Amino acid sequence: MNYFNKNKFSHGIIFHHFHDNKLHPKSQGSLSKTDLIKLIKFVGRKNILNADEYYDKFKKNLLRKNHICLTFDDGIKSQFDIATPILDEYKIKAFFFIFTSNFTQKKCLLELYRYFRNKYFKNIDDFYNLFFEILNKDLNTFYRKKKNKMELWKKQHSYFSLNDIKFRLVRDDYLSDDKYNIIMKKMFLLKNFTPQEHLKNLYMNKKNIIELYKKDHFIGLHSHSHHTDIKKLSFKNQFKEYKKCKSILEKILKNNNEIKTMSHPCGSYNANTFKVLENLDINLGFAAYGNTKEIFEKRKKNFSFQVPRIDHPLVIKMMNI
Ligand SMILES: [Zn+2]
Repeated sequence: MNYFNKNKFSHGIIFHHFHDNKLHPKSQGSLSKTDLIKLIKFVGRKNILNADEYYDKFKKNLLRKNHICLTFDDGIKSQFDIATPILDEYKIKAFFFIFTSNFTQKKCLLELYRYFRNKYFKNIDDFYNLFFEILNKDLNTFYRKKKNKMELWKKQHSYFSLNDIKFRLVRDDYLSDDKYNIIMKKMFLLKNFTPQEHLKNLYMNKKNIIELYKKDHFIGLHSHSHHTDIKKLSFKNQFKEYKKCKSILEKILKNNNEIKTMSHPCGSYNANTFKVLENLDINLGFAAYGNTKEIFEKRKKNFSFQVPRIDHPLVIKMMNI
């Protein structure tokens, strides 16, 4: 299959997790070094623009449908350890979008939870069983109420098991953040899991980010605390989120006003987000594929902040057809 028969417009590819089965275990959707090389060859090295070229062509409106860029979200350490040596080998400069709460006292626990689920249980159902045992609540009424949402998720995410769906629903719609964190802490204790020693292997540190920057990769904003639905925040709070992210990154990189790009955490944004980004001198923002294809083709007003991206599992799926 030719990649560009399917994708008829310029876009970025989104990457998250990589595995080497040593420091970074395999997890849902993660890629190995070899997978990444295969993906680069499938898309075609000549079609992959370096971040600065992509940015310049974008500004001059010169992007063509076969112009692709590679983007890495969330400042995940396995990207630095596994993917960047491959980028070096193929001389590719990519975009790295970093959220910054991990450089403050209040760490983001998302990656930690993901790592714990993958590493400390025989399989994911094992994790779910213990989770529901600790929660110890009769959830039948809750599931009945959520029947429509469950049906919808089954349709949208055919790869989710019933347990995957139930867990996500309980986590997001039944429990408060605090209650969820309490259950996870209980599980940590039961499994003798000490979070502090793992954090450094899950997220990039300042030195890693400086190194990427010095290698001419583009460092961009991804908000401060990676709220899962930032469009629900007021203009003022969205501004705080992106302003703080920008200040912290500028301090790490020792530059001022050089950060011009961003990607939306969890693909969430609205008109307020665009105003915030304009205020912060951001020129290029990446969204996700689904909701931006038409906007891309029609080149509507706020297109600059909604450049489409394709999630890497979709590319892998195309490779295997
Ligand atoms: Zn993210």
